[in-house]
Amino acid sequence: MIITTSPEMNGQAFIAGAYTAAVSGKTFDCISPVDGRVLTQVAACDVADVDLAVRVAREAMDDGRWCNLAPAVRKRTLLRFAELIEQHAEELALLETLDMGKPIRDSRAVDVPATVNCFRWYAEAIDKVYGEVAPTASNVLATITREPLGVCGIVVPWNFPLIMAAWKLAPALAAGNSIILKPAEQSPLTAIRLAGLALEAGIPAGVFNVVPGFGETAGRAIGLHMDIDGVFFTGSTAVGKLFMQYSGQSNLKKVGLECGGKTGHIILADCGDLDAAAEAAAYGIFFNQGEMCTAGSRLILDAPIKDAVLEKLTAFAATMQPGNPLDPETRLGAMVNHEHTQRVMEYIRLGNEEAELLIGGKQCEVVGGGCYIEPTIFHQVDNRMRIAQEEIFGPVLAVITVNGVDEAIRVANDSIYGLAAGVWSDNVNTLFKATRALKAGVVYANCYDADDITTPFGGYKQSGMGRDKSLHAFDKYTELKTTWLRLR
Ligand code: NAD
Repeated sequence: MIITTSPEMNGQAFIAGAYTAAVSGKTFDCISPVDGRVLTQVAACDVADVDLAVRVAREAMDDGRWCNLAPAVRKRTLLRFAELIEQHAEELALLETLDMGKPIRDSRAVDVPATVNCFRWYAEAIDKVYGEVAPTASNVLATITREPLGVCGIVVPWNFPLIMAAWKLAPALAAGNSIILKPAEQSPLTAIRLAGLALEAGIPAGVFNVVPGFGETAGRAIGLHMDIDGVFFTGSTAVGKLFMQYSGQSNLKKVGLECGGKTGHIILADCGDLDAAAEAAAYGIFFNQGEMCTAGSRLILDAPIKDAVLEKLTAFAATMQPGNPLDPETRLGAMVNHEHTQRVMEYIRLGNEEAELLIGGKQCEVVGGGCYIEPTIFHQVDNRMRIAQEEIFGPVLAVITVNGVDEAIRVANDSIYGLAAGVWSDNVNTLFKATRALKAGVVYANCYDADDITTPFGGYKQSGMGRDKSLHAFDKYTELKTTWLRLR
């Protein structure tokens, strides 16, 4: 049954522990891709708002109201925060779905629980991380400790608004930093709601600030600010490069980048479970409407099993037709907005020129005013084609046929991206060879999109630098200090 209730919506900024309008008073419409309705007005933050947020965040660092608390105390507060997120699960799931169009079944089963788990995990971790003592000569003591980085800017995309924010917020807050979070302009509502819950949980005012707004204004102001110590970004490779430039043009702030991907997903002829592989390939590209940095968007099929996989894949795709995201049965929801829908449709037009359309390829009217595209598969794709090289970020699969593992690896690695890769084979030697040779930060063997907060996530090549998740994430949000003590 389609959900008809709507939670309360707040589009204000959150600075110094209070909801507030933008300094300029400007707002923009927050439009739902489910049906095109205006959900609320959102504060259009800009340089003045970022300045204000950085000032209060710096004060919080300077007086130590959060960073000087014992890790065990920050842990208790963050556990309360996770508890509050869990208590507001239904509200947050609905906000996420209304704001960016993903199916409510996924917001409920994936986005909110993963967010809760992420905060719990880093809360639990922070009082178990020790410093080091260096093996120096006996008349000196050298300790190696981690200190919070300081004021951190966090800039995130719209495809997993809660999870992408949590992957950075949780380790950054646990480590004692103060935060300026800028959600994507397409999906600001859950970030804004999180800030209020953080205050309620006991995270002191000024430590967690949210400045909604556009990339060219609020995002750029964060990148160029002279008093932000680090900026941690998830989004496109093009904007990731801008953040490197902003850093160089300002105060050489630390930069962490999680950028785009164009995953090569290989199924070899000796794969023993083609049903599982084909199902994984379907979810790999159609889950979250294909709006996934790890979308298995280049399916690389060994010639002998190509037809069998395509038949199974087409059958799975047929069960994933777009539906109303507010219907708990829906598996493929709405694209994030009309602009992105048109961008994806332009790639489909290009695909029709470059390759052979197998299924899909059309926009559909699931709900009037909404943004919906059929699951689409192109085959007879050459890896040099644009649909094989560029990140489409939609439910559009490019199928490339190869002969054997060596060609498959060569094709998979022939990309500017290196975020994820996948390979299916029943031969352990082949699997080992492929997983070693694939140039990607995450490699799936006989599975796809496996995920756990304990494992690092990030990319080789132009997919970024640094890692989210796992204890490795603390590297980004801390400075490493060596202290020498001469002993008498
Ligand atoms: P985007 O790069 O357009 O925007 C991301 C964020 O950057 C938004 O908050 C946006 O407002 C801001 N921004 C945009 N232009 C800016 C500018 N000129 N200066 C400063 N900030 C600016 O990306 P998107 O369309 O929101 O998200 C899709 C992209 O995110 C895809 O490329 C996808 O692969 C990537 N992504 C990567 C990961 C990962 O972990 N590697 C995860 C999710 C999404």
